[in-house]
Amino acid sequence: MAEPQWAGNMPEDVDTDDCMTSYTHIYSPDLLKDQVAFITGGGSGIGLRVAEVLMRHGCDTVIASRNLERLTEAAKKLTAATGRHCLPLATDVRQPQTISAAVDETLKELGRIDILINNAAGNFLCPASSLSFNAFKTVLEIDTMGTFNTSKVVYEKWFKDHGGAIVNISATLGYRGQALQVHAGSAKAANDAMTKHLAVEWGPSGVRVNALAPGPISGTEGFRRLGGNTAQAMGAFSSIPLQRAGNKTEMAHGVLFLASRASSYVTGHIMVADGGSWLTSANDVSKLLGIASNQSAKL
Ligand code: NAP
Repeated sequence: MAEPQWAGNMPEDVDTDDCMTSYTHIYSPDLLKDQVAFITGGGSGIGLRVAEVLMRHGCDTVIASRNLERLTEAAKKLTAATGRHCLPLATDVRQPQTISAAVDETLKELGRIDILINNAAGNFLCPASSLSFNAFKTVLEIDTMGTFNTSKVVYEKWFKDHGGAIVNISATLGYRGQALQVHAGSAKAANDAMTKHLAVEWGPSGVRVNALAPGPISGTEGFRRLGGNTAQAMGAFSSIPLQRAGNKTEMAHGVLFLASRASSYVTGHIMVADGGSWLTSANDVSKLLGIASNQSAKL
């Protein structure tokens, strides 16, 4: 069968936590000229590609998470690939004082914040019956409280008086109660509600709050843990309407839309970017349990 015409429309990406060797702009390269984005979890996976794509549109970035060594390495790569400033800052989104210090440092070094991307998250598969109380709490603390903590600090210190755009990275896990994901699905469902609450309360201050909900995304830790590469080779993605996994650049393009003036009248919106996956994909507990036990055997 001939390839559908749109198959070639997938943007460039690389599977590793490196920058792309080439990039074709869809939006104007100066869409975010001289803006500043604060990106939690920006040193790996989707967050790193979001940082790169925003920087390729003229933005300076702060990438904030716990592992400063990895962040510093990522910042060097990002600056080398884009020519923009990237400030790596050690932050734990569960600890408001570390966020506060990072935001103060951002404002001192870069003078402003225009965009906040709440991307940091915990990530593993586990049946509810085996999930410890502490594991559930930790995921809620990182994904949900971390999103609230960071949004509140950035709002109080800058957005309240200057406006800005917040993009929360969500997931579709809670839509149909995805097996083995009660922790992440519950956390992201709370974040989707938070997206709307904050959009309502902070809209009058010129703050837009939206979310992007990715499906299975290649070149990420989550994809590797779900056996994504094997699944792809076995044709498992044929059940997805768009017949494939997404890539990190596609997620970054969704974030770029929501973070930029391209979406100037959009707020309180959860944009699903999953190729239609959640509508049609299997939610097979025993099959997923097989993946989970395989995964723990390798740990
Ligand atoms: P990832 O590479 O594991 O990214 C998670 C990031 O969060 C890491 O950089 C990590 O950095 C940071 N982080 C974890 N705990 C933190 C904490 N307490 N404080 C600050 N930072 C913390 O995973 P990813 O797949 O790219 O996921 C990115 C986002 O996309 C997540 O919100 C995830 O739920 C969402 N998502 C992913 C997929 C997918 O297919 N991959 C699908 C749906 C949704 P440190 O270790 O340095 O702290």
